[in-house]
Amino acid sequence: MADYKAPLRDMRFVLNEVFEVSKLWAQLPGLAEVVDEDTANAILEEAGKVTGGVIAPLNRMGDEEGCSWNNGVVKTPAGFQDAYKAYSEGGWVGVGGDPAFGGMGMPKVISAQVEEMVNSANLSFGLYPMLTAGACLSINAHASEELKEKYLPNMYSGVWAGSMCLTEPHAGTDLGIIRTKAEPQADGSYKISGTKIFITGGEHDLTENIIHLVLAKLPDAPAGPKGISLFLVPKVLVNEDGSLGEKNSLSCGSIEHKMGIKASATCVMNFDGATGWIVDAPNKGLAAMFTMMNYERLGVGIQGLSLGERSYQSAIEYARERIQSRAPTGPVAKDKAADPIIVHPDVRRMLLTMKALNEGGRAFSSYVAMQLDTAKYSEDPATRKRAEELVALLTPVAKAFLTDMALETTVHGQQIFGGHGYIREWGQEQLVRDCRITQIYEGTNGIQALDLVGRKVIGSGGAYYKHFADEIKAFTDSADVSLAEFVNPLKDAIANLEQMTADLMERAKANSNEAGAASVEYLQVFGYTAYAYMWALMARTALAKQGEGDFYVSKLGTARFFFARLLPRIHSLTASVKAGSESLYLLDASQF
Ligand SMILES: Cc1cc2nc3c(=O)[nH]c(=O)nc-3n(C[C@H](O)[C@H](O)[C@H](O)COP(=O)(O)OP(=O)(O)OC[C@H]3O[C@@H](n4cnc5c(N)ncnc54)[C@H](O)[C@@H]3O)c2cc1C
Repeated sequence: MADYKAPLRDMRFVLNEVFEVSKLWAQLPGLAEVVDEDTANAILEEAGKVTGGVIAPLNRMGDEEGCSWNNGVVKTPAGFQDAYKAYSEGGWVGVGGDPAFGGMGMPKVISAQVEEMVNSANLSFGLYPMLTAGACLSINAHASEELKEKYLPNMYSGVWAGSMCLTEPHAGTDLGIIRTKAEPQADGSYKISGTKIFITGGEHDLTENIIHLVLAKLPDAPAGPKGISLFLVPKVLVNEDGSLGEKNSLSCGSIEHKMGIKASATCVMNFDGATGWIVDAPNKGLAAMFTMMNYERLGVGIQGLSLGERSYQSAIEYARERIQSRAPTGPVAKDKAADPIIVHPDVRRMLLTMKALNEGGRAFSSYVAMQLDTAKYSEDPATRKRAEELVALLTPVAKAFLTDMALETTVHGQQIFGGHGYIREWGQEQLVRDCRITQIYEGTNGIQALDLVGRKVIGSGGAYYKHFADEIKAFTDSADVSLAEFVNPLKDAIANLEQMTADLMERAKANSNEAGAASVEYLQVFGYTAYAYMWALMARTALAKQGEGDFYVSKLGTARFFFARLLPRIHSLTASVKAGSESLYLLDASQF
């Protein structure tokens, strides 16, 4: 596998040239004082060094060795402890954290690029700081001042880690039926009892304490999702003076043996009357957890992009070096026995598909991150509301579309290596295995699609969708005629999405199966249309600068490939959406 090199040039292109993000920061109190273009560039460069130099070299070894469990103690692979220390000491765990508690206070659009780098370097490693940062977000947004002061500084600094304990053996998607209980105690704390499964970083040897955020039910809680509360439950209890006290009544019962992300500990966690403290009001736990989830879901989308990028870096190097057969139009490398495989149309198709989806995904995830920043920092209520609604609409698309595309790109990256792609030493098969979980956890992609169609599009009466469609239409209406080759197909794509959305909203009124029957394909049409908008924006910048070097020429060529070869996929997907639910219900369960 090629060494990982952070795609800093492309990140700078998206942030500084396409979105001119420093203009947004200058308008947002809370960001204007802490970040500008130079600071951001310097941060990303440093992140590139630590992820490429320290964390990427552990990826293969981590996959080979995996985590081990012995009598409740979980060991991460060799090198992880030192790398985690280096990562924490660099301030990277708290890069997006609240400066009031020792975080670096960077906008999401910057921490998103850092996440991309760490996950490209090593997804298993990246999950530990990501879960910690996510737990910090929920604590900061919903916990009491006392809990924040006691826990956040050591979490942002990476001295303690975090975990998120939702799933139970019988309750994954449907958290309304969880059984973990919380008994109120006279001193205001709670005793938490129950079993959680699949808990990422539930136990490990990277930090001296792990702060679990646990969903549980109070004795008098209403049934279903409205009866869930959130608790902060530390592995080791923390004394009044901040020092570590007794071990809490919880333990790791075992770890899972998995298809990929083998160096990430996936734990069964047993809570046996463990002491915890409530975060937010009773029965408001799911809402508090959702604060974390919007960030995490974008983060999981970015994990997919990270793997696609890593796979592409190896594939392009291999395609330039591997010689096999002659080009259809005659020999290119006449001094060699055969031509490099990059001459073949099908290899180019795969490489360009990877490049177009990765770069489209980087632009789209940055766009969503900018909406998250606007929603968090803008002082204008109307601007904030619009950004919040765009985040709500686009988060399921970012999670599911980026990860679905990542499975395609990592498989192309494996295919380009031929038989060698199937062999461990080249690293491409690990990326495919690691990628698969991104479509499953943090809410399966099927559930993301239902969320998009049911809650966000139909649930808002089309209002959230309209924000996005109106923005794209404003862009196409004002675009220069020189952009016609990009703008015209984008106009058609948005008209198609508009029609499809209106039809679906109408059909869903008459038949409750319609939304679920159409949702996955609907999300994909949405995703390709969103990428078309991103590619048109990128093409606009690249067209203006095409005389300034190969970078822009390459960008324009990739934009043309996207519009010619990938955007037309919406037509077959649209036909599936239009086909409705009828054919899904022709068989009884026994007739399958
Ligand atoms: C490696 C790994 C790490 C994880 N990390 C964590 C973690 O840190 N914390 C945590 O709490 N959990 C974690 N999970 C759990 C993960 O989030 C769940 O596995 C996931 O949400 C799906 O739940 P489930 O496995 O129970 O599947 P189920 O909910 O049983 O779903 C089974 C299938 O049915 C579909 N389905 C279910 N309901 C519907 C519906 N209403 N409409 C249409 N389709 C439906 C699903 O899409 C899926 O295809 C992790 C899982 C793994 C494998």
